[in-house]
Amino acid sequence: MAIEEGTDCHCCGEAPAVVICLTCETPLCGTCVRLEDYGFGCDGGKVVAFCPDCYADPTKNTVLKYDG
Ligand SMILES: [Zn+2]
Ligand SMILES: [Zn+2]
Repeated sequence: MAIEEGTDCHCCGEAPAVVICLTCETPLCGTCVRLEDYGFGCDGGKVVAFCPDCYADPTKNTVLKYDG
């Protein structure tokens, strides 16, 4: 995934975006992004990025389903 040069974070609108939400593709800065460690199976895990909304949504952040 690539971010266009000069894209601002769509969460705070102040900082330049450095990453895109995995599910809704909202551009996010390093402060607003929520990182989730998908550490399943034998692959050693994979870190994915969510916006705060998707991070809190169990239908998008499937880590919440498996937690406990
Ligand atoms: Zn931000
Ligand atoms: Zn999102």
